[in-house]
Amino acid sequence: MNPILLAIPVFLLSIGIEAWIAHRQGRQVYSLSDAIGSLNMGVLSQVSGLFTKLITLGIYAGVYDLWALTHWPMESVWAWLAALVLYDLCYYWNHRMGHEVSLLWGAHSIHHSSEYYNLSTALRQSATGFLWSWVFYLPLAIAGIPPKMLVIVGLIDLLYQYWVHTELIGRLGWLDRVLVTPSNHRVHHGQNDYCIDKNYGGILVVWDRLFGTFVQERVDEPIIYGIRKPLNSLNPLWANAMHYTDIFKQWQSANGWRDKLVQVWGSPSANTPDPSPFQPSAFVRYAPKTAPSLALYATVQYALLVPIFMGLLYIFDKIPLWQSGLYGLWVSLSVMCISGLLQNQSWARWSEALRWLAAGLALAVLV
Ligand SMILES: [Zn+2]
Ligand SMILES: [Zn+2]
Repeated sequence: MNPILLAIPVFLLSIGIEAWIAHRQGRQVYSLSDAIGSLNMGVLSQVSGLFTKLITLGIYAGVYDLWALTHWPMESVWAWLAALVLYDLCYYWNHRMGHEVSLLWGAHSIHHSSEYYNLSTALRQSATGFLWSWVFYLPLAIAGIPPKMLVIVGLIDLLYQYWVHTELIGRLGWLDRVLVTPSNHRVHHGQNDYCIDKNYGGILVVWDRLFGTFVQERVDEPIIYGIRKPLNSLNPLWANAMHYTDIFKQWQSANGWRDKLVQVWGSPSANTPDPSPFQPSAFVRYAPKTAPSLALYATVQYALLVPIFMGLLYIFDKIPLWQSGLYGLWVSLSVMCISGLLQNQSWARWSEALRWLAAGLALAVLV
């Protein structure tokens, strides 16, 4: 069974608890539209992952079968621990390149596009990470880590990172210098000058200390979350496409091959000029105006979508690919519509009617 199925109720419950605690403390940690936007991007990322994992994992398994120098024993605890540490090292470089190479930032920038920092931000994940992130783990195949071990340590590494996306947990002393914690990951999500390109670790922050990218959270400067070129949208498709379109535009206007290559493989700031020094006091958060009735409707629709989406995760490998393809397409259309409604976009109402018509037709055919 897909382990994300078990994680979803834990995610939703913990988000509810965090929002409730923040509300009681009088802190503005959540915005409904931002949180639903983040969850929608998470859903789109999972749908994309369902259809692409077979290919990326297949490549890993192929490299393992052909070129593994040895085969790590699945029954050894030490092998599992070493695999987790090595995976975390590969994650560090995968993540770091995701920030420092423009093409790869195209996939990763979505995770940083929220201007809030809470547990829902953790689920704001890329739908295009499959294009390149698998490359960084191929050394583990050659080192002899079996595909099943890779998948499980990868899941542990990913799930670990969930709890650090919160403003409600303060500093944790020496732990902040060894593990990735809420304090040092807050820095990673900041757009203040001192936060840029820092604290890339997944579980261990010692990699940042080793490779010179570690910085401690400052008490004298509040962190402003988000990216320098704001997304200003809840649309999960646009959130995935924004930086790629910037690269494409810059590629077209660049003179000569050298400049064109810099737009793709250089620093992301080649595409989005950096307004340094950053002025935290001048920052204004993106806040789409949504009528309360529309916000309520979108929330109810999201509550309906969650079990339907979980149904897709459950049934994906039990039905023909074309059927799960149509199911995935409908779920993707749904997250687009819900985000569009929260942004008051006129097309969203028509698409909303269309997606329920499509659902009705599908049910009529199936029953
Ligand atoms: Zn990042
Ligand atoms: Zn994060």
